[in-house]
Amino acid sequence: MSAKIIDGKAFAADVRARVAKQVAALKAAHGITPGLAVVLVGEDPASQVYVRSKGKQTVEAGMASFEHKLAADTPEAELLALIDRLNADPAVNGVLVQLPVPDHIDEAKVLAAIDPAKDVDGFHISNVGLLATGQKAMVPCTPLGCLMLLRDLHGDLSGMEAVVIGRSNIVGKPMAQLLLRDSCTVTVAHSRTRTLPEVVRRADIVVAAVGRPEMVTGDWIKPGATVIDVGINRLAPAETGGKGRLVGDVHFSSAAQVAGAITPVPGGVGPMTIACLLANTLTATARANGLLEPEGLTA
Ligand code: NDP
Repeated sequence: MSAKIIDGKAFAADVRARVAKQVAALKAAHGITPGLAVVLVGEDPASQVYVRSKGKQTVEAGMASFEHKLAADTPEAELLALIDRLNADPAVNGVLVQLPVPDHIDEAKVLAAIDPAKDVDGFHISNVGLLATGQKAMVPCTPLGCLMLLRDLHGDLSGMEAVVIGRSNIVGKPMAQLLLRDSCTVTVAHSRTRTLPEVVRRADIVVAAVGRPEMVTGDWIKPGATVIDVGINRLAPAETGGKGRLVGDVHFSSAAQVAGAITPVPGGVGPMTIACLLANTLTATARANGLLEPEGLTA
């Protein structure tokens, strides 16, 4: 068997186009332009790339982008004061602080300072609680992207056996909550899980969010299962002929022989994350103005 390759790049482009269309409609009907503020503390090169990309795609979707770049030694109090100002600014509908923050800043305090209604990353404890109790929440972008891909492929996920490998607050836990909300039977595996290959082998849906290159191999996969690979790992240049190739947490070539459908790395889940950030900004704007939720762009 050879799996269907899930084209996350094309799907993300479609999500962005749908967001842009609804942003244009919002402007035309209500004179509202959604705004997203992204705060970067320090000069981490990967974070700089993400922030640039977020700003560019925000503008392309017709939204206002506000970038705040702070020096690496910015005191925590200064960052918290900026978040307060953004919380109070009516032109800003979404506030995101790019993680990780430097060590002298308490990440939990920063996340707690963001107004939950503007928390487009979905990391505020209020949104975590709302999601866990099946209420309307802001949902973390990467798991939301995975859910959109799964719903597009399968329609109704109800009754499917899902195994999520990884229990981080950013990916694994919210992914499990979303699958549970869509009535899957969910198992969350982690570094202490015994007989992981056996656990994974019973899944109709496997979501790998581990951070270990090519750990999940084809012999772990039930024939016909859907495999969503969240992992982004850069192999050492020496292992890949000098280029430092990107791979996922799934061994793609062996898994693709067995799976029914699989996301590639790159070009699978990755592009969905920023697309869902734009979708969340639109959702936050609609909610703040008492308007209808954007169609097909929420959990
Ligand atoms: P974390 O390091 O926060 O979590 C990794 C999880 O994997 C932990 O729960 C850990 O278990 C578990 N784990 C580690 N080793 C094993 C093992 N041998 N067997 C089973 N479970 C294991 O990572 P994130 O959730 O933040 O990210 C996971 C991956 O997804 C990374 O490659 C990251 O780069 C990528 N990512 C991609 C995004 C995208 O946009 N596509 C966005 C976010 C992340 P334990 O809790 O027991 O330690």
